[in-house]
Amino acid sequence: MKKRKFLRGFTRFRLMLTLGLAVVLPAAALIYVNFSQLRSFKRDKVLEATIHRDFQEMLAISEKKIDKKAFTMAEEARDLFPSPDTNAQEKEAKLDALLTKSPWLTHAFLFDEKGFVIRSQPQQLGDEYVRKEHERMAESFRGWFGMEAKMLVEQLHKKTRPINFYPDQTKRADGPAYLATAFFVLPQLSKDRAVLGGVCFDPNYLKKTFFPGMLEEIVNQKLSDQSGNQIAIMIYPAEYEGRPEMKPIAVSSGWGDGKPEVARKFDDVFRGLALGIKFQGTSVEALGQSWMHRSFLILGILSLLIIGGLVLTKHIVSKEMALARLKSDFVSNVSHELRTPLALIRLYAETLELRRISTPEKKQEYYRIIRKESERLTALINNILDFSRIEAGRKEYEFRETNIAELVHNTLDSYRYQIEQQGFAFEENIDSDLPAVRVDREAIARALVNLVNNALKYSNDEKFLGVKLYGANGSVKLEVVDHGIGITRREQSKIFEKFYRTGDPLVHNTKGSGLGLSLVRHITQAHGGDIAVESTPGKGSKFTLSLPLASAPQQPNVAAS
Ligand code: ADP
Repeated sequence: MKKRKFLRGFTRFRLMLTLGLAVVLPAAALIYVNFSQLRSFKRDKVLEATIHRDFQEMLAISEKKIDKKAFTMAEEARDLFPSPDTNAQEKEAKLDALLTKSPWLTHAFLFDEKGFVIRSQPQQLGDEYVRKEHERMAESFRGWFGMEAKMLVEQLHKKTRPINFYPDQTKRADGPAYLATAFFVLPQLSKDRAVLGGVCFDPNYLKKTFFPGMLEEIVNQKLSDQSGNQIAIMIYPAEYEGRPEMKPIAVSSGWGDGKPEVARKFDDVFRGLALGIKFQGTSVEALGQSWMHRSFLILGILSLLIIGGLVLTKHIVSKEMALARLKSDFVSNVSHELRTPLALIRLYAETLELRRISTPEKKQEYYRIIRKESERLTALINNILDFSRIEAGRKEYEFRETNIAELVHNTLDSYRYQIEQQGFAFEENIDSDLPAVRVDREAIARALVNLVNNALKYSNDEKFLGVKLYGANGSVKLEVVDHGIGITRREQSKIFEKFYRTGDPLVHNTKGSGLGLSLVRHITQAHGGDIAVESTPGKGSKFTLSLPLASAPQQPNVAAS
């Protein structure tokens, strides 16, 4: 017994160890690793850094796009430039024509060996700022080119697109303005000629048309980053960067207000200006935080699910183990139960055969024992057969109108002798006026026999058996009462499960298969009734079987489920 207990404990321990090592540990490790990874993501602001990298990239691409457009515009202007080898009037006329065709330019100039010609948009010359600018440009470019034209031409010829941009601060009526000047060599001329042409982009055009248009185009093309959040970009004077008075020159729609998340200074065409980028309506930090929250929440839910799954698995495995144990107990119980009556039958039959018994009373007694033991065997085998039919879903019942009082009385009659022999006080209380009930007689008799047998088996000193049959609330009730060992409240619901036997020592020392009550329950349920138990440990038990009077099954055969 001790060894078996130890073995069971060991198997359980092994199973728990397997569950622990194979499932709980990896699951816990997975949860832990995920949590710590998320925490380090949070600490190192990994998401924010990734978005910032993306933003850097977007700004680099945007700058290239803007530069490309400015280069193309400068090249288009260059193609309309006069040849240096014409006279001054022709040059002026050609430059004027160029300005008329390109209203986005404010000035256009040509420097060659003969001198310097600069022309400005006539309708803008009414503005004193433009006039002053015209003079300033004429002076500074003339001077500069006069000294360095040769070197500049040389430098320009080395570039794939021989155009240089020169940034300048200027002024307009509404405040400081950004002036971008492109100067270039004329491609049709030979490399050793110190000829330079140039155009100045109208600051108003840059601010009101060129930059906004470019920004809009970029934002429309790359409306959102991978996470689906819309971006906005802007252009502002680089030297104001970070200062509260920083005034954007141009913004894409949806910029709202606030600082850029990432900035990039132009380093070729529009030097002195910078590009800024951010999300529309949210910040990278807020995004990172909400992503973190979401991830923690999802991980939390997943962890709970894993824990729930583990608990469920443990529960199911324990249940299966308990069932397996019950089954193995069942096999040993049944073998034991078969062996005892068989041994007795053999012993008494052999004794009779050898004619060792002299008195007829003794003989009678031996016959009775043989009959009783074979009845016990039959009852046990019937139980097992019924049980296996039920398990296989093949059990069928044969319902017939029955005088239930008579059925109960007759069934008890064949046990009366045995009951009294065992020293039981037997109280039979049968209401004989009950209406006929449709039942399977054999099954009901078997249920009653099982209940009576249990009452006899599980009684110690106080030997009492009461059987009562009466009608109540549209049903027939059959009560089997004993003053035996009783059943704890916890075990009362379990005793109807197959193979279940309580932990009471008397139960262990008593033969049994643990099938009787599960059969009783099945039989009553097949009749549309139910079985209940009331019991106090040490005081006794009362099993009440109820069969409905009216709604008893009408069909002759009901396949059991
Ligand atoms: P068996 O009697 O073959 O063990 P049953 O299914 O008839 O199987 O009963 C299941 C268990 O319920 C018994 O092992 C016993 O522990 C408990 N039990 C049944 N009837 C009684 C009773 N009248 N008094 C105390 N315990 C009982």
